[in-house]
Amino acid sequence: MVEQLSGTYQEKDTLLQRYFHTASHQISSFDEFTIKHVPLDEKVINVSDNEDLGWMAGIWSYLKEGILPEDKDEARKIRMRSAKFIIIGDELFKRGVSSPLLKCLTVSQAAYVIKEIHQGICGMHFGARSMATRVLRAGYYWPTLKSDCQSHIQKCKECQQFGNAHRQPPETLHWAYHCTLQSTTQETPYRLTYGADVMILVEVGETSHRRQVFNSEQNAQELAADLDLVDELRDEAQIHEEACKLRASRRYNTRVKPRSF
Ligand SMILES: [Zn+2]
Repeated sequence: MVEQLSGTYQEKDTLLQRYFHTASHQISSFDEFTIKHVPLDEKVINVSDNEDLGWMAGIWSYLKEGILPEDKDEARKIRMRSAKFIIIGDELFKRGVSSPLLKCLTVSQAAYVIKEIHQGICGMHFGARSMATRVLRAGYYWPTLKSDCQSHIQKCKECQQFGNAHRQPPETLHWAYHCTLQSTTQETPYRLTYGADVMILVEVGETSHRRQVFNSEQNAQELAADLDLVDELRDEAQIHEEACKLRASRRYNTRVKPRSF
């Protein structure tokens, strides 16, 4: 990559070409630039040498050796999933939307990245979603990225104390209650008390804020991040669905009373 940008040689790989285009596009907006090769974090790289591949194992053996599990369903799943991955120089990457190649991390590598990224945003009112976007932007991927960010933030005292933008302080909730139609009266407590109605300040603030900050480039980036996180959403939905089915069948089975005649 560094040699390409310096014009030393041209890259034939189409995926790397996308990186090249992005980088050279950004460079064109500067008057002057210098390139420095920054080695990937040593700690991140070293773990992978002897660690169990974990969630990557199936994809890895299929892409590297063409080996699929004997179970037909499992084999089909691995084949379909693998289409989104690529091995480059003994490392697994996911073809991303927010960036062309996302380096796949094992559980302990992921834990390290989560810790690092969290340190940078701790107490800054960022939610799990924004933290996940940051992980993607740093170029990393693992299947439980978003939920791991979520549980990490939930475990952090400081993040919990300040909360994120979506969590309102108690006064706001109190205010919102007084300005919301109550099912019993079909009136807001505020109007019942003062004979006049009010708008909830939070909502007004929220709308205008969203209008002010709307920016199509950022919006596109967010959409791309959504697409990178969609597999996790699907995995969760599938687990949820299977759990529902299991519960339903259990309920059904308990109703079946065996009778002998
Ligand atoms: Zn924190």
